[in-house]
Amino acid sequence: MAYDVEFRAGVVAVRAAARVCRSVQQRLATAEALQKKDKSPVTVADFASQAIVCEHLMRALPDDAVVGEEGSEELRQGDQTALLDAVVREVSTETPAGDAQVLDWIDRGGAAATTDRYWTLDPIDGTKGFLRGEHYAVALALLEQGEVVVGVLGCPNLDDGHGGRGALFTAIRGEGTRALPLWDDAFEGPAVRVSSLESTAEARFCESVESGHSNQDQSARIASELGITHEPFRIDSQCKYAAIARGDASIYLRMPTRKDYREKIWDHAAGKLVVEEAGGRVTDVEGIALDFTHGRTLDANRGVVATCGPIHDRVIEAVRKVRSES
Ligand code: AMP
Ligand code: MG
Repeated sequence: MAYDVEFRAGVVAVRAAARVCRSVQQRLATAEALQKKDKSPVTVADFASQAIVCEHLMRALPDDAVVGEEGSEELRQGDQTALLDAVVREVSTETPAGDAQVLDWIDRGGAAATTDRYWTLDPIDGTKGFLRGEHYAVALALLEQGEVVVGVLGCPNLDDGHGGRGALFTAIRGEGTRALPLWDDAFEGPAVRVSSLESTAEARFCESVESGHSNQDQSARIASELGITHEPFRIDSQCKYAAIARGDASIYLRMPTRKDYREKIWDHAAGKLVVEEAGGRVTDVEGIALDFTHGRTLDANRGVVATCGPIHDRVIEAVRKVRSES
């Protein structure tokens, strides 16, 4: 199998990070004293997740660069020792480590997205969902010459399709998308396919829970343009890509809310391959392919549209129409 070493390293890394995130989120839900506005638990899990993934990748593939969302600057400040202690405690539940090592692992994720080959990582995608006790993802992808070649998407709160909670989606370019257990060690699992829907009117569309991340007024108009009557399926993080890949929904709309916002590569790389290798299509709102050759952001793109495939051009047409009217 192509990319076997990378695939296995990515899966092991994402599973370890997901275990830590799950345990922090569970404690968050039970910590009565915790103020709603206290964002520190997500910060701890975010840093710990990046440290764990980088450490795993470093061990398996020492020459590989990682472009992660987080940097260690905040943790290195003198008044952040309590935060650093908490991060080290979480990391140590997976890999025994000291302060200096953990900081070093986090910084391993500080590569520039300019080399021919690098990984990109969102250690907790959907932090708002994480804090609400809802959905989030650990998203990891390998890029070569601007193409996503491996995608690993851990979704700790997504149903596994068998009555359990926690799902893992892996995609290798040209070899399809698979559903693996998130909490077990298997490297095999059933192939994942998008829905075979061909009529847009019956489509279920998904979008961000956060109206600040995607223009929900516009998506409602696009849905009505397409004759869609189902309510939108709102779910945080790249779990939306997972929902398209396995046919829970057929359209993912991410409509820009601000002219100056640029999508981040770690928010889309893994999800895009998971959908495409499951038979779907992913473009921006203009129908242009996502272009991962501009560093940390998708500079040449605006928003995202992902679909099960055959309906893609019709969806883009409706998106264009609604955008031109607003
Ligand atoms: P979601 O869970 O789909 O709402 O996406 C979460 C991601 O949205 C975060 O990882 C952020 O990087 C990203 N984000 C932050 N601000 C914006 C924005 N104005 N437009 C689109 N995405 C954003
Ligand atoms: Mg994110």
